[in-house]
Amino acid sequence: MSDPSDPAVAVELRGVAKRFGSFTAVDHLDLAIRAGEFFTLLGASGCGKTTTLRLIAGFELPTEGHVLLGGRDVSEVPAFQRPVHTVFQNYALFPHLSVLDNVAFPLRVRRLSRAEQRARAMAALEMVQLQGLADRKPSQLSGGQQQRAALARALVNEPQVLLLDEPLGALDLKLRKEMQLELKAMQRRLGITFVFVTHDQEEALTMSDRIALMQGGRIVQLDTPTGLYDAPQSLYAAQFIGETNLIAGRVVSSGAAGTVVETLGRRMTLPPSAVAAGDAVTLAIRPERLRRGGGTDAPEGRLEELDFIGTDLRLVYRMADGSRLVLRQQNDGGPMPTPGEAARIAFSPRDLRLFPTDPERTPQ
Ligand code: ATP
Repeated sequence: MSDPSDPAVAVELRGVAKRFGSFTAVDHLDLAIRAGEFFTLLGASGCGKTTTLRLIAGFELPTEGHVLLGGRDVSEVPAFQRPVHTVFQNYALFPHLSVLDNVAFPLRVRRLSRAEQRARAMAALEMVQLQGLADRKPSQLSGGQQQRAALARALVNEPQVLLLDEPLGALDLKLRKEMQLELKAMQRRLGITFVFVTHDQEEALTMSDRIALMQGGRIVQLDTPTGLYDAPQSLYAAQFIGETNLIAGRVVSSGAAGTVVETLGRRMTLPPSAVAAGDAVTLAIRPERLRRGGGTDAPEGRLEELDFIGTDLRLVYRMADGSRLVLRQQNDGGPMPTPGEAARIAFSPRDLRLFPTDPERTPQ
């Protein structure tokens, strides 16, 4: 647990639980978000990420535990008195006010002078590059521009922490990708702590310094994007983040020198792990870590499906033992493989992650 006076911690949850009746939405969460960090709560629908954000904002009060902002316990402080601002997916702009007046609105509530309202609202609009559209009404803006106006309104009060609940969810894919990069660049420039909620793992990987992957009201892995992608700590994380091949295996021997596993009709040695000879295991490997080709020690398969994705080819192989492997390779302009074609599939054992087999997530 962090020192409460530590200026490096912007948001802290200590043993926070939230129950709605007998249902536990957030289950004893301990979390410290660093000042200036782009922190993402990621997970499937219903995992508790929005409730966690609402607990930080003060829209919900914890059933148990404490919420601290900048080292101060705000568990009992109402939302409007907390030094945070929330941006929602539906931009919630006032349709009858101009963009400038929308952005100035929080300052009007605080009864700042007209001149100061205008100056600060214009500065916020410049941050999101909307200064040229200050006089328009929200209906005269595109979806991306409306979202930027909502961001400017959130930034105008200079919050220490910005809470963002699926803020890009209503945008089409191309704009969403552009806004991801813009939002990340803006966060770096302003140095404000962002707590971002999304169910989109690719968005989380692109934008975040750290990600808390949630399931059933708990954090199952808190990690950097590379940590979560390259070293998932559970089958759930391996499957939720990116595409993953799950292959059935059996432990031949296990000791300090390594774990010998039989899979795809081959034996291979993996780093030591807490499994015993005879255990059924699941091995996870990313599609881009598989290669076509390899010597006679590489398992053989037959190409079943081929998808052309522009930059990449996605190839699905049926292996000799019946398992199915997805392989991705860059479109290097070489000849296309043809369905039905046999190939050996090579990979390095160090790219395999080993998990005890979960009967609910059996490999195909
Ligand atoms: P989504 O991506 O669908 O918004 P989420 O991960 O943000 O999902 P939450 O909104 O935090 O999930 O909800 C977590 C669980 O708590 C869900 O099962 C939800 O139905 C339940 N829940 C949330 N708010 C309430 C409430 N006010 N009363 C009762 N149950 C609630």
